[in-house]
Amino acid sequence: MRSFNLRQVKLRPGEEHREEIELELEPFELGGERYLPVPGTLPALLAITKATSGLVFDLRFTTRLHGPCYRCLGDAVLEVPVDAREYQAASNPEGVEELRMAYLDEDNLDLGTWGRDAIALELPDKILCRPDCAHTEETGDTRWSALESLREQL
Ligand SMILES: [Zn+2]
Repeated sequence: MRSFNLRQVKLRPGEEHREEIELELEPFELGGERYLPVPGTLPALLAITKATSGLVFDLRFTTRLHGPCYRCLGDAVLEVPVDAREYQAASNPEGVEELRMAYLDEDNLDLGTWGRDAIALELPDKILCRPDCAHTEETGDTRWSALESLREQL
């Protein structure tokens, strides 16, 4: 699912609704490159807790992102555990500016966008195919010089 309708959940203050959902994630762009969550549909835990002052939303899942390595453009796979929390203040009659949850439109919780943004927050600055991919060129140089010295010996 990409969205969740809150109307199906009736909570009293202090109560919590927990549900295993099938979360649908779309590919997204990062630094001009395209990253694909695999699988596109994955199990996630959605929890909604009613506090006296509002609603607390928790979304938990682990996804694997497939995309190009920042340095060598080879295939990179990154496991991303996500544990996101959002808060929606209860509406008050005074109409005071409240803390609004960005992914809530009326009773509709936009899980696709929330999930994608939550993944983005967990990502490192650079996605690499392996932690030491930065050293690829150095290794290449060493090999070349080894080959050069071998050639000199012949
Ligand atoms: Zn790489």
